[in-house]
Amino acid sequence: MSLGTGIRLADLIAAICFVLALRGLTGPKTARYGNLLGAGGMTLAIAITFATNGLTHFLLIVGAMAIGTVIAVPAARLVKMTAMPQMVAAFNGVGGGAAALIALATFLRAPAGSLAVYEVVEVLLGVVIGCVSFSGSCIAFAKLQEIMTGRPITYPGQQVWNGIVGVAILGLGVTVCVSSFNWLVAIVLVLALAFGVAFVLPVGGADVPVLISLLNSFTGLAVAASGFVLHSVVLVVAGTLVGASGTLLTQMMSRAMGRSLPNILFSAFGSVITATGGAEGDTTRSVRSASAEDVAILLAYANKVIVVPGYGLAVAQAQHTIRELADLLESRGVQVIYAIHPVAGRMPGHMNVLLAEANVPYEQLKEMDEANPEFQSADVALVVGANDVVNPAAKNNPDSPIYGMPILAVDEARNIVFMKRSMRPGFAGIDNELLFDPKTTLLFGDAKDSLTKVVAAIKAL
Ligand code: NDP
Repeated sequence: MSLGTGIRLADLIAAICFVLALRGLTGPKTARYGNLLGAGGMTLAIAITFATNGLTHFLLIVGAMAIGTVIAVPAARLVKMTAMPQMVAAFNGVGGGAAALIALATFLRAPAGSLAVYEVVEVLLGVVIGCVSFSGSCIAFAKLQEIMTGRPITYPGQQVWNGIVGVAILGLGVTVCVSSFNWLVAIVLVLALAFGVAFVLPVGGADVPVLISLLNSFTGLAVAASGFVLHSVVLVVAGTLVGASGTLLTQMMSRAMGRSLPNILFSAFGSVITATGGAEGDTTRSVRSASAEDVAILLAYANKVIVVPGYGLAVAQAQHTIRELADLLESRGVQVIYAIHPVAGRMPGHMNVLLAEANVPYEQLKEMDEANPEFQSADVALVVGANDVVNPAAKNNPDSPIYGMPILAVDEARNIVFMKRSMRPGFAGIDNELLFDPKTTLLFGDAKDSLTKVVAAIKAL
């Protein structure tokens, strides 16, 4: 078998690994295996690149890989689950930037006029999409890391300006294709970077993870364009898979939030604090708060308890303590299930990953559609650090910004217990009427502290 045939075969095997990796990542049980397959495919793809004839700058490449490894391995190992979206943003931005640089380098190295129009189009797609993804991801990272405000930043005529920049990029791109003004690519690059920033500024905090998923799909497309530029099959396949899966994920997240993608991107959602009491929530009305002992009695003598985990569970790192509580209740004959909302937390699957870390059996995790009919027969809905995903305003109040978002039917349970630290609203910034419902009890405090106290109180019963 010739080297060329061997490389093409290895390309095919790497591509198959990527497809199977995605398949594996669709379920918690097969996710590890999927991840390993993806890593294996990527290692093979890198090996193919080194085996390809004509590879130059070997030391520079190995040096860059070493630096990347030294930064990425500790970052991936040390990142907290709650900081995962910004890490994805950072890595995604680097990917987009790399794709843009590859396309640009190919363009600059080619002798003037030697590239066919379709090749210039590929280069421009790589540069433009890669730059938008890079600068957009940088802003998304800064928002999530709270280096800058997470609220939407708007100014008069914003979308018109964005439109003008978009049209200018298109016009300059066409000019580059049909003329010999290659230097215009530099302006295209700067405008694409500016467009990425302007595109992300009006997107608010709660919507940023959806945006990151969209930018992720952009990076995939930029990588695929670079693959065409470099005539690399495996890069085209990998980029297309990332582009397609990013697009699907974006759609699924939008649907789970009950909003359309244009609404998420252009409505500057969250720019107005709609909570009655502003950032602190509504502190003017009275609520029923209870002690850990009261909650312990309510839970211990229930027949069926539904745990609703949310972002606060991740912040408090209370996954092990909630598992301990569930085990304790089950040992007393109480049926315990977990109701998982698709956008609970700050990224898709956040709660599944968190609870898997504490070895909560998969059979106890119920997705929203499966969980909702269960609330009517539940004695207690125990809401741990969740807010927006149980807010009845989503179904009762047409004026609410989250109206239309499917929610967990916690309000149908006989008793509701909220564990949270204050009356502050959730990420969407809107009050939750359920906190004032007569059947609701609030146990204020950090979720892990509260759960630890409840566990101790049940043991003492
Ligand atoms: P929310 O952000 O609505 O609420 C989190 C709650 O946790 C708050 O009420 C907060 O109240 C409480 N909390 C925070 N820290 C702690 C702690 N240490 N101990 C106890 N409680 C704590 O979270 P949800 O999971 O209900 O909703 C997720 C939100 O994120 C939705 O708006 C969703 O649309 C959005 N989103 C999710 C995405 C995803 O993919 N998962 C993607 C994009 C957006 P207090 O401060 O009083 O403690």
